[in-house]
Amino acid sequence: MADPRAVPALPCRWGGTGSTRDGGRRDRCGRWRHEGSQCGIGERRWAGERRGHTGPGSLSAGRGGHPLRPTAGTPPGNRPARRGGRAGVCEGGVPGRSAGAPGSAGGPACATGIGGGGAPLLYRRGRGRGGWGFGQVSLVTVPAVLLRSYPYSESSLVLRFLTPEHGVVSALAKGVRRRSSRGETPMETFQRGSLTFLYREERDLHGFRDFQSPISSRPLAGDLLRFSGASFLAELVLTHTMQEANSRLFTHLVGLLDRIETEARAELPGVILSGAWTLLLDFGFPPALAECLDCGEELPGEGMGRFDVEGGGIRCGVCARGGEGPRIGPEAQVDLRRLVSGTPSGPLRGAAAHLSLVERYALYHLAGRRPFHATTLLRTSLVQLGTEDGGEGGGEMGPMEEEGASLPGIPDA
Ligand SMILES: [Zn+2]
Repeated sequence: MADPRAVPALPCRWGGTGSTRDGGRRDRCGRWRHEGSQCGIGERRWAGERRGHTGPGSLSAGRGGHPLRPTAGTPPGNRPARRGGRAGVCEGGVPGRSAGAPGSAGGPACATGIGGGGAPLLYRRGRGRGGWGFGQVSLVTVPAVLLRSYPYSESSLVLRFLTPEHGVVSALAKGVRRRSSRGETPMETFQRGSLTFLYREERDLHGFRDFQSPISSRPLAGDLLRFSGASFLAELVLTHTMQEANSRLFTHLVGLLDRIETEARAELPGVILSGAWTLLLDFGFPPALAECLDCGEELPGEGMGRFDVEGGGIRCGVCARGGEGPRIGPEAQVDLRRLVSGTPSGPLRGAAAHLSLVERYALYHLAGRRPFHATTLLRTSLVQLGTEDGGEGGGEMGPMEEEGASLPGIPDA
């Protein structure tokens, strides 16, 4: 057998100098791996067998060991960010704030330094796409708004943030429930701030590191109508948005939350429902409100039309006869247009009926599997506000009537 080292070199997947032969490939330590096997069993062997190896191809140029468990001899420049690790030279060699978990001594990497050079950080992604192997990890700091948190275990939470660069980010925050029970300030839903997390390639759940927020979201959390309104908008975003960059959506949502927090109570129904419609516009589902879906007659015309959720528009009074869908009068059509254009004016009549309409529209077009959790509470708050205002905002007496709800799985208002 020919000496494998005599075969012309090709870069191996670890970025080292390797060579190929018979479809195989040499890793950084000079071991053979088969081309198709990615980093399989051989990779695990590699992690164990290369102890003591200090060749030029080693991941950690020190005394070796598993790439995820750096040994004492590993220089800081090649050390992965570790929770609670010693603060030191940043991963990318950039002097800056180390981004450790709150209360810990901080990890060795600062947010700006990561990805700035050196070997990529890796995590063991197990038997995923392409077999056993490692995925890249990077420590990222981005603006974020906390949309929801779920308990994960007795001590941990799964936090779901919206970020401009990474869309919706789900991050596992270990031990935060224990820390908040010890009196540390817990994170509040809808807080806006700066999120630091360990981004794991090909994963849906990332590692939470830190969330710094200069603004409290207490005014929002302390009012049922404001909180349920913000929750509804958050649910719309969580139903539709994936891990893709969308800075416009982020700015839009943060602006809406600011308005919901500060707007006078009488204006809130319009702001919340208009927020929901404009988010749907952002997602690419604008309703057609200018002309009748069937005859093309300009709207609002005479008489009671009907909103067609599937068709995404309104039928005029003539075409709507005998049809199905929520009935909607000329005044409500004008209000709906204002909501969709993002310019609600004054107290909204029939707010609860408007909520049912936008909820059905969103469920159908976002392919939601179940009614939104927040709408029950929001509807109650809207009806309550309407009663306070003398029946104007409740919806039951408004110009828009609910009739002929035919969509499966969606309760009638
Ligand atoms: Zn018509």
